[in-house]
Amino acid sequence: MQAATEPPAFGPVKIRPGDPRYEGLLRGNNFRHVGRPDEIRVVGSTDQVVRAVTEAVRAGRRVAVRSGGHCFENFTTDPAVRVLLDLSSMDEIGYDAGKRAFAVQPGATLGQVYRTLYKGWGVTIPGGGCPAVGAGGHFVGGGYGTLSRRYGSVVDHLYGVEVVVVDRDGTARAVIATREPDDPHRDLWWAHTGGGGGNFGVVTRYWLRSPDATGDPSRLLPPSPQRMLECVLAWPWAGMTEQVFTTLMRNFGVWHEHNSAPGSPSAGLFGLFLAQHRNAGYFSVVAQIDADLPGADGVVTDFVTAVTAGTSAQRIVDLRRTLPWLHKTTWPGTGEPGDGATRRYKIKAGYLRRSLTDRQLAVVHRNLTNATGGAEASLLLVGYGGQVNATSPDATAVAQRDAVMKAVYQTVWADEADDAAHISWLRTFYRDVYADTGGVPVPDDVSDGSYINYPDTDLADPAWNTSGVPAHTLYYKDNYPRLQQVKARWDPRGVFRHALSVEPPGR
Ligand SMILES: Cc1cc2nc3c(=O)[nH]c(=O)nc-3n(C[C@H](O)[C@H](O)[C@H](O)COP(=O)(O)OP(=O)(O)OC[C@H]3O[C@@H](n4cnc5c(N)ncnc54)[C@H](O)[C@@H]3O)c2cc1C
Repeated sequence: MQAATEPPAFGPVKIRPGDPRYEGLLRGNNFRHVGRPDEIRVVGSTDQVVRAVTEAVRAGRRVAVRSGGHCFENFTTDPAVRVLLDLSSMDEIGYDAGKRAFAVQPGATLGQVYRTLYKGWGVTIPGGGCPAVGAGGHFVGGGYGTLSRRYGSVVDHLYGVEVVVVDRDGTARAVIATREPDDPHRDLWWAHTGGGGGNFGVVTRYWLRSPDATGDPSRLLPPSPQRMLECVLAWPWAGMTEQVFTTLMRNFGVWHEHNSAPGSPSAGLFGLFLAQHRNAGYFSVVAQIDADLPGADGVVTDFVTAVTAGTSAQRIVDLRRTLPWLHKTTWPGTGEPGDGATRRYKIKAGYLRRSLTDRQLAVVHRNLTNATGGAEASLLLVGYGGQVNATSPDATAVAQRDAVMKAVYQTVWADEADDAAHISWLRTFYRDVYADTGGVPVPDDVSDGSYINYPDTDLADPAWNTSGVPAHTLYYKDNYPRLQQVKARWDPRGVFRHALSVEPPGR
């Protein structure tokens, strides 16, 4: 009989076409992508992952791994994928005294991670704002959110990973890799600090501990805020002029240029410009800050003054309120695009080192006020920089370490029949913004490539990227050759791949 302290065993569960559960497990968050694998294997342990990968490799079946299912592109639903590993049931979170670090399994959602770390130890990680995103794909791609300007990226706190890799002879095995300088597997850890999911193996566990952190567990990760002060401003599109709109957006960008150095007194403020299409009726600016930071209210007031300078447009929303941080961060549905029952979306992105230029601001205004954009089409400017920029570009695989914002271009819709129209609107908008650099955010004094957790296969399509700069340079910049070396060492058979995956050297 099993000892009472042992967790109940789960899986593996093998779900094949014809099984009543099959159809329900084919999609992730974006209903535009639906796979048809021969098998969905829901796994409950590292050993089960090793066995599943071994069997897939022996049978010559392409394998993909899904944790939280929030991938923007079809990396886990590609028709070539024959075995889909579903890691969502591997969701334990706890303190590992042996490693002096918090262990997080990949199926844990960010909401679970925030709740458990808060309740157990009063600590947190600077991860994403959508509580349903999975740790599995999120951490390995970098991970950032409302606390990143204060605490950096998630991977700046990544101590180690357990990864199921496949040797040249086809043997699958679990390997532990840490950031310890003398760890012979350190390169594998490094690749998981921003290299992106689905490239090197299957992550079965992450360990988190801030660099140089000492003491008891409650001091090994950043302290969790208790209360967030939130400020929301919204303007109606009716009567809005191009001059006022572009002034607001430029002001938002310039504020970030001036307030995004590591340790800046305003680095605690996270700002978001939600420029929704005119068909939505309004657009907004949101600021959040730990309410218990000294002078928090004044930082918000200065931000609002700076963003609205030179404009007198009437606001339809102008509120300030304080909410419990845990409530704010883990509210179900937060950050999810569109209607949960039908959502289809396409998202494109780019890092910004400074405000969009005047030409780009005019393009943004034109595209957000044309007749073809949907009510759920938008450009989000997301505040970044601060503590993120305290880390050097090669210390982790996240190469962009002097950006101050991310630009996220998105459109969300419900019906498959509308796919082409929505995707075409978004592609045209994006190409026009980056018209001076081949339709993509080539690193220069304004842009700095893009973020692999916001993957966009158009960046690898010569029809939409005419810059001559390959997608991997846009995502990884000078870190790409090192990622290729890791790929050659740890995935010599090329078992783990997708439309934007890291290729071995020479390709
Ligand atoms: C609504 C929404 C909000 C978001 N908000 C933010 C945000 O605030 N900040 C931010 O940084 N990002 C954000 N993202 C992007 C998010 O970080 C990525 O989509 C992330 O890759 C999702 O991970 P997942 O496990 O949920 O997705 P999945 O679809 O399961 O996986 C994504 C990719 O990672 C691979 N992968 C998954 N699990 C593993 C594993 N265990 N081992 C190896 N590879 C794996 C998959 O094969 C796939 O290629 C958001 C995405 C969405 C859809």
